[in-house]
Amino acid sequence: MQAAAQSAKQAVQDAWAKRPLIISGPCSAETEEQLVSTAQRLAATGKVNMLRAGIWKPRTKPGMFEGIGAKGLPWLQKAKELTGLPTAVEVATAKQVQDALTFDVDVLWIGARTTVNPFSVQEVADALRGVDVPVLIKNPINPDLELWSGAVERVARAGVKQIGLIHRGFSSYGNSEYRNAPMWHLAIEMKRRNLELPIINDPSHICGRRDILFSTAQKAIDLDFDGLMIESHIDPDNAWSDAKQQVTPERLKEMLDEIIWRKEDI
Ligand code: PEP
Ligand code: MN
Repeated sequence: MQAAAQSAKQAVQDAWAKRPLIISGPCSAETEEQLVSTAQRLAATGKVNMLRAGIWKPRTKPGMFEGIGAKGLPWLQKAKELTGLPTAVEVATAKQVQDALTFDVDVLWIGARTTVNPFSVQEVADALRGVDVPVLIKNPINPDLELWSGAVERVARAGVKQIGLIHRGFSSYGNSEYRNAPMWHLAIEMKRRNLELPIINDPSHICGRRDILFSTAQKAIDLDFDGLMIESHIDPDNAWSDAKQQVTPERLKEMLDEIIWRKEDI
């Protein structure tokens, strides 16, 4: 293996092992400028271990921005080159897995709308056979731990060695304080059943709004989560998706500075 490839691989391993694991970046990659400058400002905080960006976006209704598609993958490569941050992308099909890996995405994640569908999870898992890449699995949108466990099992059976969990809350009908109710007890039960897997919390998709992001992130750390995935954007109000919940990289830093971490994370 060439030295550069080897050190990139080591950077991913270091990030994966880091506690707290902090993944941040925009809900969606929109333009090269937006992605690269978000990444640079995140790297400048010195607090972020991995850059996330949605390339293919599963939207509830048609006619909304459905992601920039594969054309955004070289932007992620560039952001990684400039900042040294390993990259993470959501994948829902075999083609997306192949495209992401072709452009050296370091970590893949399965989104909540995919975890609910065993056919899709199996397709992604099959595309991962023989591929050595860490995979994070979000909880399904409905509160069903068996479905979440089933997705973990499918990916594990495909030979993926590094699997992590993301708790992003559960959807329900009607308005509530949260966009997706955290139902912390379910995440804790999943954590208890999978003590060997890291579990991080995604307060952005739980809250759906900025004002309760901090308290939710703090709660996750108090509950012994291994890290956080928080959406960030250089101009949150004008984001092409999830505008209400994204924060600037600088606000993210403030939040991370204010969180009371577990002793072993300090
Ligand atoms: C996302 O992370 O941008 C996303 C679509 O999340 P979820 O799958 O949790 O809805
Ligand atoms: Mn989002």
